[in-house]
Amino acid sequence: MDIRNTVIIGSGCAGLTAAIYAARANLKPLVLQGHEPGGQLSLTTLVENFPGFPEGIQGPELIENMKAQAARFGAEFDTVHVHRADLSQRPFVLHLVGGKQPIQTRTLIVASGATARWLGLPNEQALIGHGVSSCATCDGFFFSGKEIVVVGGGDSAMEEALFLTRFASKVTVIHRRDQFRASKIMLDRAQSHDKIHFLTNTVVDDVYDVAKKEVTGLKLRDVRTGHSHVLPTSALFLGIGHVPNTAMFDSQLEADADGYLLTRDHVFTGIPGVFACGDVADRRYRQAITAAGTGCMAAIEVERFLEEQGR
Ligand code: NAP
Repeated sequence: MDIRNTVIIGSGCAGLTAAIYAARANLKPLVLQGHEPGGQLSLTTLVENFPGFPEGIQGPELIENMKAQAARFGAEFDTVHVHRADLSQRPFVLHLVGGKQPIQTRTLIVASGATARWLGLPNEQALIGHGVSSCATCDGFFFSGKEIVVVGGGDSAMEEALFLTRFASKVTVIHRRDQFRASKIMLDRAQSHDKIHFLTNTVVDDVYDVAKKEVTGLKLRDVRTGHSHVLPTSALFLGIGHVPNTAMFDSQLEADADGYLLTRDHVFTGIPGVFACGDVADRRYRQAITAAGTGCMAAIEVERFLEEQGR
């Protein structure tokens, strides 16, 4: 079986930057694109804070550019999904979903990112695709002229709420506290928008109506008084953060209590030859530019590691 020099799990900003650097080092990296090709940038709209684009750039376009750049230098791409990575032997073995031929590799760059978090409401999963969504850019269009709720108090929730004003007649942001994690500029924009309203100190206890296969309302609770009421709405968008994609490592890599991989010197995991970059190992910054930066570091460390091994 072919043994790869390096395999990159994930095709977001971190994985693609790693691919550009590894490809330019003639390592012929193989990028496994995973369930969400392009990562979170491919689900976003205008990116205004990635240096080099004074007018901003659309997230999917930025990702396509990075992919083309990596491919130009010889990076290869595959859409297979890793369900278990065996890091106990060398070369490392990646077992794939669907019983496909496992992949062997001398080094591994983990850039598997993080996936949207759900609230865990009784009816939530049944209504995904029927008014419950974690992606405003994907699903906002379906709710033109309707009232929409966004849950969360961070930048994602503000960004979703602002984006959804293009379609909705009214957007209500529901947040469980009255302090926000969102950056001041994003919060100010949302708070000064005449279509956006805020309900703070409020949690969502359930979403209706599974029988009708559409969202008709939310059961809300004021956390200070315990009082519940139903708010009619046509859609529930979640902007409550993400969960790192680490299940495939099954505790072989050290992680914190929320599953974020622990690294030292930015990208080193506890296993020589395995490097982690991007959001899977970053609960602090989680920016496109920081993901790109650590992707670059991971690829440089792969090159050094292989050199030390005499390859
Ligand atoms: P975040 O900053 O972690 O915020 C998540 C929000 O969801 C918090 O307000 C949190 O409430 C709330 N939340 C979490 N679990 C909840 C639950 N079970 N029920 C109700 N509320 C819940 O995540 P994020 O907004 O996705 O942002 C992540 C990173 O990406 C940040 O660094 C952000 O700056 C960046 N980002 C930037 C942009 C931009 O610049 N355009 C856009 C999006 C994201 P608590 O506050 O009470 O914990």
